[in-house]
Amino acid sequence: MSKIITGGCCCGDVTFTLEDHFSHFYFCHCTQCRKLTGASHAANLFTSPNNINWVTGLDKVKRYDHPTRSFSKAFCVYCGSGVPFVSQSGKALIVPAGSLNEEPSKSLDAQIFCAEQTQWHKVGVEVIKTEGFPP
Ligand SMILES: [Zn+2]
Ligand SMILES: [Zn+2]
Repeated sequence: MSKIITGGCCCGDVTFTLEDHFSHFYFCHCTQCRKLTGASHAANLFTSPNNINWVTGLDKVKRYDHPTRSFSKAFCVYCGSGVPFVSQSGKALIVPAGSLNEEPSKSLDAQIFCAEQTQWHKVGVEVIKTEGFPP
């Protein structure tokens, strides 16, 4: 059996555990993932739909499904943090990697939809890195 990983939202109302057993791990640079996350790209892990144990706050989780395409997002209604959700096809549980409290053992498989990667992100990954606020 795999190790158990804990996760949750920023305000702490929504918490969950799941097995550290993931089939895929992608950074997705597509426009929809950029909008849904508000960030440069989504960082999503994929696992089986039943690999989730909601501990607290499942009643605080709201889901958005795009009306015509297969994009979805689940989030805490108080703090907006992305949390895991089952894909519209029902075939996978999609876990925003940033919602985890510990590092998954799965490493990244690929960066996908890089044709839609922003120029500011391409440039941004090359600039100086600080350990806290900028100097
Ligand atoms: Zn929250
Ligand atoms: Zn995407």
